[in-house]
Amino acid sequence: MHYISTRGAAPALEFEATMLTGLARDGGLYVPERVPAMTEAAIAALAGQPYEEVAFRVMRPFIGGAFTDDEFRTLISSAYADFGHAARAPLKQLSSGHFLLELFHGPTLAFKDFAMQLIGQLFQASLKRSDERVTIIGATSGDTGSAAIEAFRGLDNVDVFILFPHGRVSEVQRRQMTTPADRNVHALAVEGDFDICQALVKDMFNDFAFRDRVGLAGVNSINWARVLAQVVYYFTAAVALGAPHRSVAFTVPTGNFGDIFAGHIARAMGLPIAKLVIATNQNDILHRCLTTGVYQTEAVLPSISPSMDIQVSSNFERALFEAYGRDGRAVAQLMDELRSTGRFAVSQGAIEALRETYASGRVSEAETAAIITRTYRKTGELLCPHSAVGVGVAEAHLGTIPMVTLATAHPAKFPDAVEAATGIRPGLPARMADMFDRPERLTRLANDRAALQALILQRTGLEADA
Ligand SMILES: *Cc1c(COP(=O)(O)O)cnc(C)c1O
Repeated sequence: MHYISTRGAAPALEFEATMLTGLARDGGLYVPERVPAMTEAAIAALAGQPYEEVAFRVMRPFIGGAFTDDEFRTLISSAYADFGHAARAPLKQLSSGHFLLELFHGPTLAFKDFAMQLIGQLFQASLKRSDERVTIIGATSGDTGSAAIEAFRGLDNVDVFILFPHGRVSEVQRRQMTTPADRNVHALAVEGDFDICQALVKDMFNDFAFRDRVGLAGVNSINWARVLAQVVYYFTAAVALGAPHRSVAFTVPTGNFGDIFAGHIARAMGLPIAKLVIATNQNDILHRCLTTGVYQTEAVLPSISPSMDIQVSSNFERALFEAYGRDGRAVAQLMDELRSTGRFAVSQGAIEALRETYASGRVSEAETAAIITRTYRKTGELLCPHSAVGVGVAEAHLGTIPMVTLATAHPAKFPDAVEAATGIRPGLPARMADMFDRPERLTRLANDRAALQALILQRTGLEADA
């Protein structure tokens, strides 16, 4: 099983190298050379299986010889052992034909845990075997960082540096990043927004001397192993609703496009997904792009669903690669244009391909709050603002096919917005109730790559080798 870059100019890699490297050396993202198909019988046989077993069967063809079957099963089972729900990703009915897939029962209460907990296990197993060290570096709008820190804290062969936009993450998100006491955890509050954090990380990956010196590894949603882990719950949800004999639609609260791209992979494997709907908040670059054919960045507007407050949606590059018939050169050109002008126009053929694969919708701030209020009144369900954006867009796409909206975070992660809309302040699950009493540890940082690199060298003890 080989992985190729969306920009066509980096070497093809096996699963393990793809996972450890994150971003391809030509600046592109890795995608499988061919998506393995699952037969109808194999999909039907997933019915009633535990989440971990479905995870094994769905992911196994993608990992090649990286791990033995026994090893892989053990890693999967450790990854999900700390989840607060036996089903891992339980499905709840909201109304006739509309279901909520709860992806927030992991240790940091957002869907990012599904991928990050697994990647933590896979990295550890792989690094132990090779006796190597890596420096994990990631940018976060809130949830990725806390999930990464939770997955990698205390591991021997790893330092983890997380950049987050200072003052723009919720208090729970910040505390999840700043309260772990492990010495290998470094929470960095950057002056700027998420896109600035993401650009700093990308630039460091493109500085090959630095990248090799510190053994840089990326666990942002561009990491293929993360996308892969997210494919699994599309299967558990669809099979619970009757796949492969019945089609299912999904609506996905979208930012960096990792989660919804996993849905595309599930469909490419043979899961009958009738519709994949991109749901955006007021930072609606993806919805505008699908509607107008022009991908045009604007300033990020802070919203009550901050994990979707982005303009450059990294994994969208993977969708463009598919839409352009896997023409890496065309994608590289678009990305150059984006870098120099802040926009690009999608070709007629490619926009048609994108519209065949994805539908889209947008929800304003006021609508998001109204959806939280309305859903609580009608169903008793407290939605986090991201999930509310999904529910709002899904309601506009309901039809005869069952619709599953991905609930991407626990309401207690965004208690202010939920309380403002419902009058109820959602409480943290008991296992994390002491978070507000623990001391915080963070480093403030300007938008300055040289200073950041110096800090990383110093904290990893590598500056002496200069
Ligand atoms: C990360 C995140 C999203 C967006 O997911 P992408 O894979 O980046 O599109 C949506 N909701 C929540 C709560 C998140 O943490």
